[in-house]
Parts: sequence; C-alpha cells; structure tokens
Amino acid sequence: MNYNIALLRGDGIGPEIVDSAVRVLEEVGKKYGHEFVFTPYLIGGAALDACGIPLPEETVRGCLASDSVLLGAVGGPKWDTLPGNIRPEKALLGIRAAMELFTNLRPAKLYGALKGDCPLRSDIVENGFDIMIVRELTGGIYFGERGMREGKYGEEAYDTECYSRMEIERIAKVAFETARKRNKKLTSIDKANVLESSRLWRKVVHEMAEQYPDVECVDMLVDNAAMQLVRNPAQFDVIVTSNMFGDILSDEASQITGSIGMLPSASLGNTKRGLYEPIHGSAPDIAGQGKANPIATILSAAMMLLYSFDLAEESECIVNAVDKVLNAGFRTADIAHGGDSLSTTEITDKIIENL
Ligand code: NAD
Repeated sequence: MNYNIALLRGDGIGPEIVDSAVRVLEEVGKKYGHEFVFTPYLIGGAALDACGIPLPEETVRGCLASDSVLLGAVGGPKWDTLPGNIRPEKALLGIRAAMELFTNLRPAKLYGALKGDCPLRSDIVENGFDIMIVRELTGGIYFGERGMREGKYGEEAYDTECYSRMEIERIAKVAFETARKRNKKLTSIDKANVLESSRLWRKVVHEMAEQYPDVECVDMLVDNAAMQLVRNPAQFDVIVTSNMFGDILSDEASQITGSIGMLPSASLGNTKRGLYEPIHGSAPDIAGQGKANPIATILSAAMMLLYSFDLAEESECIVNAVDKVLNAGFRTADIAHGGDSLSTTEITDKIIENL
C-alpha cells in the first residue's frame, strides 16, 4: 500500500525528531511492503520566516490532500514577541480547525524501564500503567459563549460549558472503539452531580454503551478521577472526557509517567486522516544539538499506523522496538539522569535495529 504523509517539521527540535520518525517509518515500510511518501510543508516560525504567516494556505491544502499528518513542534524565542494572531502556536489551532479534529488521544504509559522516573511511590506503580485519554477537542467551555458584564457586585466575567448530543456521541464512539482495541474498559469522567452538561454527557454515554456490550463502561466524577490517577493509575484503560477536564487530567497523567520526551498524541476527526505529534514543545534550549529524545514522535508515527492506516502489527512493531531499546538500557540525555546517553540519531538507529 502507498500512504501519503504530510510532514510539518516546524521549529526547534521539530526537524530532528520528525526526521527520526521518518527513518523509522521507512524501515517499517521496507519490512512490511508499504510505501510511505513524505511531503514537507512549512508551519510555525519556519513558515513565518519564509512567507510571513505561521500557517500558509499551501500547508493547509497539503495536509487536507494527504492520508495523514506528522507534526514536530512549533515556536521559539525568535517569534515570542510577535502579536498573538501571527505567533507560531496560532498555526496549531489553525491546522486542527482546518482538519476538523474533534478528538485528542493522549496515551500515558509508564515504561517498565523508566519506573524510576515516575514521581509516585514505587508500590503504586509496581505493575506499571497504560492509560489512553480520549479528550473532546472542539466543544465545551473553551468554545462556549463568554463575555464580560456588569453584575450585582460590579464587573464580572463568564464562560459557558455547552455540549450537544451530537458532540458527545461522536467522541463517545471514538472512546468505545478505542477501548475495544485495548482492554475493553472505559471510564467516562464528568461532573454530573453539579453540571447539567455533564448529566447529558452521562446519559448519552450510557445509551452508547448499549451498542458496546463487550466494553465495560463506568462513570467517575472528575474530582475523584484526579485523585484516582495518583492513587491507583493502573485501574484505568481508556478515559473519555470533555475538553477542559481532558486538558487538565491528561497533563496530570503525563506527569506521572515522568518523561515529556516519551509521550505521543493523535488528533482525529471524522475521516481516517489524523494529526500526530509529540506532546512536548520545540525545546529551543537543546535544538540543533542532537540531544532531543525522538521517542514521542516515533510513537506518534506508531499511532498514525494504527489509527489512520489500520496497520496494527506495524504499529506494534515500533512500540516493541522502543520497549526493547529502553529495556536494554539505552537512553537520551533527558531520561539518562546524568548517566551515559545517546544522541537523537543514535537512539533512532537502535530503535531501527530492533524493529
Ligand atoms: P518544551 O516542551 O519545548 O520544553 C520543556 C523542557 O523539556 C525543555 O527543557 C526541553 O529541553 C525539554 N524537552 C522537551 N521535549 C524534549 C525532547 N523531545 N527531548 C528532550 N528534552 C525535551 O516546552 P517550553 O520550553 O515551554 O516551550 C518551548 C517552545 O515550544 C515555546 O515556543 C512553546 O510555545 C512551544 N510549544 C509548542 C508546542 C507544540 O508545538 N505542540 C507545545 C508546547 C510548547
């Protein structure tokens, strides 16, 4: 099979980590008989420097014409003083909107070899954890009606949380399908004891659950979920939640894995085409030094194979290779704690050797 992948290398360490993922994909292609065709497009600061805007029309067109998109990261001190509407980061919202991506998948997995990096007590994470957070990305309070007004006590501000049945159904569908591909347990997180929008959320999720009898579906209030994530993270398989709750809980979950350079993400819409990117930024402090950890981007590419191309075996092959490399003790500087470390290229070579 042929797959067209739009590459948005971006800024800082973006080009280095994307090129590592490309090398891994090319090897996977050779091993399994697929051809991945990569077309680079400008985004972020690189696009600003070349054409004065962070998200050129050609980039949007290229992404929409591709089978999927792999992004590095954008931003850096060079562009920090620009006005908000032309900052590199603006391009991220622009490309997500243009691709109509309403789902954000953020896995938080504690690798056996990296247990020492987890800030939780060792007995809590003895058996590791592997959580997939499915966050609604284009609705809720971040997009609801907002404003300033004169109230009883003078100046006041308000934001509105609003979810339609359609928005809940489509994110719940992604979550149930995701749980089906994993350990078949879905935790739906809301605040149904207080919020009307959460009560609709819960009702719709329960209705959808009837179509997925093979998936165990439980509700959890968001305050309890924040607690349970640090008390017993291994109880979770797939989590589905609203935009704001997902924003907060996915950061909490990523922190308990202990390593920002390891965590991938996927943003998906109604088509198979997704946007895959590491959760970290452009790390300008280490850009161009060969020190960046490419694993989050390589694992983002593995998510692309699974979610956009239905290549489960090929995806698993990448994940296993990363596991083997970590188990063998190879580390980049960010996870080496002052011990021996490999460069971006060297750890990529090790992963390729283990495919
Ligand atoms: P950052 O994630 O870039 O870096 C935070 C720290 O983690 C730095 O010390 C960095 O060296 C380290 N780090 C991050 N990724 C790493 C990797 N793969 N390997 C090794 N070390 C890594 O966050 P920041 O410093 O707050 O932001 C830097 C720039 O990135 C800013 O311009 C910010 O706006 C932008 N940013 C972009 C995205 C994105 O493109 N999705 C996300 C967050 C931040």
